[in-house]
Amino acid sequence: MNNFYIPAPVLFALERLHAAGYHAYVVGGCVRDFLMGRTPGDYDVTTSAKPEQTLDVFADCRVVETGLQHGTVTLVRDGMNIEITTYRVDGVYLDGRHPENVTFTDDLAEDLCRRDFTVNAMAYSPDSGVIDYHDGMRNMAERIISCVGSAEKRFSEDGLRILRALRFSSVLDFTPDDECDAGVRKLAPLLDKISRERIYVELTKLLGGPAAPRILRKYPDIIARILPGLDETSAEKTAERIERMRHFLSEHEMSPEKKDADALHYALLFADTDAKLCRRLMQSLKPSRDELNGVESVQKFGNAAEILAGNSPVYEVKLLMKAGGDGFPRKVAVYKYSVGLLDAETAAEVIRTAEDLRESGACVRLSDLRVTGSDLMSLGFAGPKIGLVLNTLLDRVMREELENDRDVLLCAAEKLASQN
Ligand code: ATP
Ligand code: MG
Repeated sequence: MNNFYIPAPVLFALERLHAAGYHAYVVGGCVRDFLMGRTPGDYDVTTSAKPEQTLDVFADCRVVETGLQHGTVTLVRDGMNIEITTYRVDGVYLDGRHPENVTFTDDLAEDLCRRDFTVNAMAYSPDSGVIDYHDGMRNMAERIISCVGSAEKRFSEDGLRILRALRFSSVLDFTPDDECDAGVRKLAPLLDKISRERIYVELTKLLGGPAAPRILRKYPDIIARILPGLDETSAEKTAERIERMRHFLSEHEMSPEKKDADALHYALLFADTDAKLCRRLMQSLKPSRDELNGVESVQKFGNAAEILAGNSPVYEVKLLMKAGGDGFPRKVAVYKYSVGLLDAETAAEVIRTAEDLRESGACVRLSDLRVTGSDLMSLGFAGPKIGLVLNTLLDRVMREELENDRDVLLCAAEKLASQN
């Protein structure tokens, strides 16, 4: 395991702690990801040093006291945030989510016991190699999500772990083992107590995972449980739609940005719900305003039968660019294809058209227009009329009835003025 790659700032943290006489390991997701050949998102360090001792060790470095009572100090170094957490034992869980208290320990084994799944409960240091007390490596080879200890006990302590089991199954393309599966099904009601923000984070990751369709089909009741109002067939339909979407994206060698992919996943999940329920359910997950808009706008234009119906495709693509930016027609086309409102050929044509329009710098926004509000003021227009005339001119340019040329537009504006 000599070739375990650890970025220099993380190695620095481990070495500093060792030099000061403490034990320190990278732990959790980064060990799992490395062993699976995936690129770790972040590196967490677990150490025998108590939080104040960690602060002392890094006294000359930039550290943030992220959660001292939970034992976490964040070292900021070379653009990396490294969470360094003291070996910890969680106290009793009374609220179904948080331990009443945490106690620090000198024993790595105890710290690994508090972690959710065996594949998340491994530690590594260059000196010791991989520490794996819970058969994480074997479960990884079997592609299994298995709780550390009794599944029922672990889910009862913290209901979020139920959704995390499905999220890791989706992202890693694993399967919950029988005990984990039984625990998920039996204790699903505990999800009602979990904060919506945390549900949102896990659900978003679940929907984006390579095995999302399989997990959605296997656990439709869990999806309906966390999104009350959505019926159980939604998960199955979403699975199909996500499969169609991914097939289309790979055929056309497209890989949307994460935020666009997330918006599409939620739009597909709520494709059969009316706009009101979609908004209520999305809002219940406490998304940012941008995230909410992203989902709602794809749905609004995607479900509008007249949009991209083939009557005047270039103009409609321009309307979409005007409404949601250059990449928006692509999102709407992918959505429409995935829910079966557009055939693959037309969807591809929309995407090509949008690309051509973008490259040719087509005029689709007021700011692209070669006249401005002050030009119109000099022609005698005032107040809200200015906006109206600008929009009329823009629409005619988008329909190719007028050239986007200053003189042409001023002349057209004058005509409009004389008509009133
Ligand atoms: P990702 O790559 O998505 O960040 P991760 O495994 O790093 O995956 P995190 O949510 O960042 O997941 O948590 C880091 C580690 O902390 C986990 O690997 C696990 O060991 C532990 N952990 C996190 N949340 C819980 C929880 N609710 N219960 C028990 N252990 C947890
Ligand atoms: Mg992580």
